[in-house]
Amino acid sequence: MSEPLRVLFVTPEIAPWVKAGGLGDVAQALPAALARDGVDVRVLVPAYPALKAVFPQAAPAAAFAPAAGELADAQLRLADEAPVPLYLLACDAYYDRPGGPYQSPENQDWADNHLRFGLLARIASLAATRGFGAWQPDLIHCNDWQSGLAPAYLAGESGAHAASVMTVHNLAYQGLFERAQLNALGLPSELHATEALALWDRISFLKAGLLYADGLTTVSPTYAREIQTPDLGFGLEGLLRERNDVLTGILNGIDTDTWNPAHDPFLAERYDASRLEAKKANARALRDELGLAARDDAPLIGMVARLVEQKGADLVAAIAPALVHDGAQLAVLGQGESRFEQALSALATAQRGAIAVRLGFDEGLAHRIEAGADLFLMPSRFEPCGLNQLYSMRYGTPPVVRRTGGLADSVRDPDEAPAGEATGFVFDAPEPAALLGAIRRALAAWRDPETWRRLQTNGMRADFSWDASARAYLEVYRRAIAARDAARATARAG
Ligand code: ADP
Repeated sequence: MSEPLRVLFVTPEIAPWVKAGGLGDVAQALPAALARDGVDVRVLVPAYPALKAVFPQAAPAAAFAPAAGELADAQLRLADEAPVPLYLLACDAYYDRPGGPYQSPENQDWADNHLRFGLLARIASLAATRGFGAWQPDLIHCNDWQSGLAPAYLAGESGAHAASVMTVHNLAYQGLFERAQLNALGLPSELHATEALALWDRISFLKAGLLYADGLTTVSPTYAREIQTPDLGFGLEGLLRERNDVLTGILNGIDTDTWNPAHDPFLAERYDASRLEAKKANARALRDELGLAARDDAPLIGMVARLVEQKGADLVAAIAPALVHDGAQLAVLGQGESRFEQALSALATAQRGAIAVRLGFDEGLAHRIEAGADLFLMPSRFEPCGLNQLYSMRYGTPPVVRRTGGLADSVRDPDEAPAGEATGFVFDAPEPAALLGAIRRALAAWRDPETWRRLQTNGMRADFSWDASARAYLEVYRRAIAARDAARATARAG
């Protein structure tokens, strides 16, 4: 049997303990799925107070002096062994403070974020080059700008053996700093001399990763194409186009235990594809909970989202009166920009019994909307992967989505797919009329029970588990290692 592949997964957050976005969920689920596939994977994350509190027994495993610029010394502490070894990067001066992983309690970016995440990247590269304990990775998997410098440090290490992969979870976050701040980081000198990391008159940690990593990934195939265009490339489209031969889009999986209508403790009645009638009981309970009129005959349309422009909250507000006119009911859960919160709340006040809006974060209600609604809305302007459309398909609630990013890759429209594969409704223009048109097509299908049941069961049977994604990452790792080996061979020959 061949040796297992050794991977160091470097992340600035990990659910359920420290989570600012989807990356936290990925860091929890993907390494576990890789381990099930036989990969020898270990996770490295800064020792924030929340992690120190959960793992007070974390034992010293290695000490590192970064010997780079002004970076502080740090220690690796082994916090947990299962399902994968979890290493905390301990450096109290950088990470042991109140607030979030990137921001102070007043929501200001920490002024020393270049040091905090410069250190994470530097230690990842040292751990990869020198190993720790008796373990040395074949590859480091970096995530978002916070570990973007690691491939650059690695490139400057003599005798480095590990390959690197950089994953972009949302290209809008680029890790921008002032040029002068580079001096503190002790990066390879050619990075100082050139404009390699320049972006928008500043320097970008993410760009370093995109430039130096042997393999690049993002969280859906369509988003991988979209970030190569000026619309969604945020100034990095040129570099991404140049490197598109090593760029792969891999859809995130979902937590199929937490999001399982057959076992969901938040629901009035649990169900699966063979007991879809139970959705009626969930719809009734949801109407009751939200103060919607008890109308079993009316289609109930749900939405759970951050109420921001990206998610198309304005599009939903624009068409809500027309939906009510068509006889539908609307249930919205979200929080975000006050202009969208106010517009939606005003609609709920004007159309009591037909539109319900709950502002705030409510995990249980999110599950009950997925289960009780007939149709789920996700009209995002852009969406790197998106989770809610995956949850809704699993709950037998066909989604209406815009054709972008992970939405385009996960939802199939009956006008474009064979009957056995259609799972929802897709529209193109980010405009109210296009959204309304797609909803009206969906409601026509809803009125035909046989068509509708087929759409529901297609979605419920689709595989959105992490297992398929983990296999795709494994393939990317293998290609990155082969690319690194080929580059070395060329360098030696030259
Ligand atoms: P994004 O990460 O861009 O916000 P996703 O669809 O990828 O969008 O993931 C959103 C996640 O957050 C889902 O799990 C969704 O159910 C949850 N969520 C968003 N808003 C709320 C809310 N107000 N209450 C409960 N859960 C929410």
